[in-house]
Amino acid sequence: MNYLADEQRYSKMTYHRTGKSGLQLPPISLGLWHNFGGVDTFENSRALARHAFDLGITHFDLANNYGPPAGSAEETFGQILKKDLLPYRDELIIATKAGYRMWEGPYGERGSRKSMLASLDQSLKRLGLDYVDIYYSHRFDAETPLEETMGALDQAVRQGKALYVGVSNYNAEQTEQAARILKSLGTPFVIHQVHYSMFERKLEQGLQDVLAREGVGSIAYSPLARGLLTDRYLENIPADSRAAGGSVFLRPEDITEEKIAKSRRLNALAQERGQSLAQMALAWVLRKGHVTSALIGASKVKQLEDNVAALKQLHFTEDELALIDQILAG
Ligand code: NDP
Repeated sequence: MNYLADEQRYSKMTYHRTGKSGLQLPPISLGLWHNFGGVDTFENSRALARHAFDLGITHFDLANNYGPPAGSAEETFGQILKKDLLPYRDELIIATKAGYRMWEGPYGERGSRKSMLASLDQSLKRLGLDYVDIYYSHRFDAETPLEETMGALDQAVRQGKALYVGVSNYNAEQTEQAARILKSLGTPFVIHQVHYSMFERKLEQGLQDVLAREGVGSIAYSPLARGLLTDRYLENIPADSRAAGGSVFLRPEDITEEKIAKSRRLNALAQERGQSLAQMALAWVLRKGHVTSALIGASKVKQLEDNVAALKQLHFTEDELALIDQILAG
């Protein structure tokens, strides 16, 4: 049977303006780095994407190399679009990126014009789309002049293959330079995708000020610390978890006693607030209104529901924030 999106989806969600742009994003967006690869069960990926959209999540984040194998997350999402979501294309914000290793040879990674524009064409093909909404430089490339990488993003917009551009994993100074170049080109630089969670706070050391000054929004990736800031690992490493699944980005040895001790104390505070730890971790990322959206991953539909319910309780008292800082420093 054809998929029909939940008619109530927009009554459940509010949307935030991305920096000073006209683009609005949901406070929670879905990333397809894990659980959408060729190795994953298609019907679960499909259920996740559909359910997210039913909850009002309009933003789906990809990159050329997401999988595994690399490229397969875009192919999976292309299939989901074809089967279910294409009738809703104008309600979706689909992002992709290039910068990390994707294909053999000198043009398969980094930030050259050759690499960035070829990769976008490949991504569009896998997705079955004419354009993406946001195209990112996935990482700063010290070997390529920044003018060249930014020029490629500008070209993507001028070709009609991207509506907006962003950068990811750039530090404060690199971001400031990118903003200056993109402004001179007249390119809509609307978003910075940054690693930010209670366990990863570099955004607060200068980058946030640059973004505010330049009127650029931000989307916080891995706000749940890949699962460490959830109830997933409080007692053990469950067999169906990312850490047990062979991901090189969250190995059993990354689940240290020290981290888990902090997560347990944070979990106790979350319970006092009437939230799950995941919900409190998301509320914390969104707490000051600087971050436009928290970019989560999910392996189960139930996790999406738990995470979106975080939006019911975003307020923190000063005492709660101080206690969180104390736990994290401890
Ligand atoms: P998270 O920190 O949100 O971790 C997601 C994982 O946490 C899930 O896979 C799941 O683990 C667990 N989880 C989620 N919700 C719950 C819940 N309610 N209760 C219990 N466990 C939960 O983010 P990711 O690390 O997945 O990253 C999110 C997105 O950010 C990526 O998909 C990608 O789009 C982007 N990203 C960008 C990067 C960049 O360089 N620009 C780098 C990394 C990510 P489990 O699978 O074990 O169930």
